[in-house]
Amino acid sequence: MADQRGSDCLAMIVKPRIRGFICTTAHPLGCAANVRRQLDTVKTAGPIEAGVRNALVLGCSGGYGLASRILAGAGCGANTLGVSLEKPPTTAKTATAGWYNNAAFEAEATALGVRAQTLNADAFADAAKDQVVEALKENFGPLDLLVYSLASPVRKHPRTGVLHRSVIKPLGEPLRMKSLNVDKGEVVEVELAPGSDADVANTVAVMGGEDWELWIDALDRAGLLAPGFRTLAFTYLGSELTWPIYRGGTLGKAKEDLDRAATALRARLAPLGGVARVASLKGVVTQASSAIPVVPLYMSLLFKVMKEQALHEGCIEHIHRLFATQLARGAALRLDESGRIRVDDLELSEPVQNEIRRRWPLVTTENLHELGDLAGFKADFLNIFGFGLDGVDYDADLDPTARPLG
Ligand code: NAD
Repeated sequence: MADQRGSDCLAMIVKPRIRGFICTTAHPLGCAANVRRQLDTVKTAGPIEAGVRNALVLGCSGGYGLASRILAGAGCGANTLGVSLEKPPTTAKTATAGWYNNAAFEAEATALGVRAQTLNADAFADAAKDQVVEALKENFGPLDLLVYSLASPVRKHPRTGVLHRSVIKPLGEPLRMKSLNVDKGEVVEVELAPGSDADVANTVAVMGGEDWELWIDALDRAGLLAPGFRTLAFTYLGSELTWPIYRGGTLGKAKEDLDRAATALRARLAPLGGVARVASLKGVVTQASSAIPVVPLYMSLLFKVMKEQALHEGCIEHIHRLFATQLARGAALRLDESGRIRVDDLELSEPVQNEIRRRWPLVTTENLHELGDLAGFKADFLNIFGFGLDGVDYDADLDPTARPLG
């Protein structure tokens, strides 16, 4: 951020400071505007009758988790308890975007007439599960819905104490593939070394299904799963263009473990009339997806093609479709042979994929703007951190520690 006016003064002008695939600053008013924009989309689309009174969203502060919380709160009229791991602001440094998003959502929830509470905690730890059980008992009651939307590079295992680090690597042979240097707007070739067995085991430990199962254990033991309880976790199956780095790589192994957990949880929840499903979602720009090699180039082409075919959805539009068509009462579920909910059908439709496959070998730095939507990708990336939103004065001084007004 630029221009901090003296150590005893909290006013500062906040500008984006981008380091690779992360922005180290976040704009509080921009983040609030981003949450409001998503809430407005949901309110305009109208209420969704899904029988959800109390929802828990793990990973509630950004991306698909934030969108799910907004759908639960503003679409379904549910009280929401959210868990995320974000950094609060100091007088010298802005908070992480998710911290401002949570504050903005809580303020807006009051106006919506629904309860919203957020815990800033490591969701992988037993302590977070205990805190959630306590908060549900005190303020909410049994859950109708749990959305598991964590995306993390590390997990300290609650039983062994081992710190597992997930990696995004291909498997088998070294991979040479086209990718995108987003900062420079250059199409480049990357070479990625394959992951080892230990990389797979670590990535499964972080992004697989074990923690989801531990959450259900803790909530079930505490008697906090309502009859008909539903839980969702998210996967990306994607186009075969991204399979070498995603579905066929270390992360794909973790997502296979999520499928395993969903099957086990379905059996376990059946006596309650409950169900667990993995939902396969489309590619969107989030903090997690920006960090995956190759994916930003694929997404630039995807966005251009889906916009041309009038099929494009951002995070909130996509999760709206998930809730409105798959969670609403009487919904006809779009399940695949593994029992996953599929809302990635538009991304994976033949007209979209044929056109991306045609463009993939042709795309270069020179024609990227014509064949792909780098501008759209970059705008979405800045929006995550509260930059580039309409109606926000980015030259105004602000106090990074102030809470938004409801
Ligand atoms: P994101 O980076 O936007 O959000 C991750 C969330 O996890 C944040 O709220 C963060 O605070 C929280 N978190 C991380 N570590 C935590 C911890 N230890 N304790 C508590 N909270 C923690 O990610 P996203 O892209 O929305 O991903 C969410 C899920 O959706 C992932 O399973 C991802 O694989 C899946 N998915 C994403 C895409 C995509 O294109 N982004 C597509 C399909 C599926």
